[in-house]
Amino acid sequence: MKSLVILLFSGLITACRGNSSYSLPPKLLLVSFDGFRADYLQNYEFPHLQNFIKEGVLVEHVKNVFITKTFPNHYSIVTGLYEESHGIVANSMYDVITQKHFSDFNDKDPFWWNEAVPIWVTNQLQENRSSAAAMWPGTDVPIHNTTPSYFMNYSSSVSFEERLNNITMWLSNSNPPVTFATLYWEEPDASGHKYGPEDKENMLRVLKEIDDLIGDLVYKLKMLGLWENLNVIITSDHGMTQCSKDRLINLDLCIDHSEYTLIDLTPVAAILPKTNKTEVYNKLKNCSSHMNVYLKEDIPARFHYQHNDRIQPLILVADEGWTFVLNKSSLKLGDHGYDNSLPSMHPFLAAHGPAFHKGYKHSTINNVDIYPMMCHILGLKPHPNNGTFGHTKCLLVDQWCIKLPEAIGIVIGVLLVLTALTLLMIIMQNKLSVPQPFSRLQLQEDDDDPLIE
Ligand SMILES: [Zn+2]
Repeated sequence: MKSLVILLFSGLITACRGNSSYSLPPKLLLVSFDGFRADYLQNYEFPHLQNFIKEGVLVEHVKNVFITKTFPNHYSIVTGLYEESHGIVANSMYDVITQKHFSDFNDKDPFWWNEAVPIWVTNQLQENRSSAAAMWPGTDVPIHNTTPSYFMNYSSSVSFEERLNNITMWLSNSNPPVTFATLYWEEPDASGHKYGPEDKENMLRVLKEIDDLIGDLVYKLKMLGLWENLNVIITSDHGMTQCSKDRLINLDLCIDHSEYTLIDLTPVAAILPKTNKTEVYNKLKNCSSHMNVYLKEDIPARFHYQHNDRIQPLILVADEGWTFVLNKSSLKLGDHGYDNSLPSMHPFLAAHGPAFHKGYKHSTINNVDIYPMMCHILGLKPHPNNGTFGHTKCLLVDQWCIKLPEAIGIVIGVLLVLTALTLLMIIMQNKLSVPQPFSRLQLQEDDDDPLIE
């Protein structure tokens, strides 16, 4: 009955719009379920999400940026930049020059966000377009003096349903039309921290709830006739790994707290030394074998996490599943923020809509690649970024790309044809150059006979 109603409604709306839908500007809804670890998709059932993927594309692993925290990664997705370039280098930051502080609860100062231009701002600068946000880090801040035309102030107590109602209303009825929209939800991150990803029973319940929300999202888009023409990306900022009270690194056992200011704690500790930097470094370096200690200038290049004043002089990176604590701090059973080469830190990406192939699976992209892909879909000129559009070409219907199995097939095919042709030529050549002694002998006999007679 439910599907019949959807069919009737969407059919009616499509019929009313007729062919005019083809001239509409492309629209894109970007959805994030915070902390959705990539392998949840393999380890749990997601009937609604799997239906979405069946008619669209799936990227099994998205390599995110270091540090694998919420604010930095959400900003990388919408700017295509590494953290050192977009300036949101942690969920807790301190700027030495201005002496400003940033945290999850104190994030409204545009100063922190203005080092980059997010896609919703670029989208609005195009003629006759607007952006909308049912929450996404930064969307309630006037970045470069611009907020989305429609947005909600961040509040974790607003239900998914209310966010969904707002975003679909804005996508349906706005003038100028909303062509780019975001939707953000705090789960499964909150439960991942609380229970740890290895708590199968609780995660099963939480992930089923998320799948139901995805079902609600698709149902609502179909009901409103948005489904066929809207491009929808469902992704996340990072994964989650299991922590334990047996894997703690107590910094208070290694160094007196009066010797440094702690800007951020775990699993990447940001340390601003108050005394001699080398002394602080030496004390911390021998603190535990389950972490790496870096002077800012020695942070490995692969992290792309060095060239920004907001990155502190010393950073400590805990090994996977280890937690920095001070004497008084508490433990989370799940956490993220670790090395971005760890598969447990990676989210996934699924997408559906006229811009995307149907039923195509791809192994991996970087989360900074999402930005140039979104700009392409919306017809926007991207700002300089760290992403590579070519990495996402195979996902898109209007791009030509050779997929690996096809490429191997083509190479083998060409080699087979070349081998066959070469063999044929060799055989032909041999046939032409072989002497025919028997017939020549006969000829000679014929020729000679009359002479003898
Ligand atoms: Zn997060």
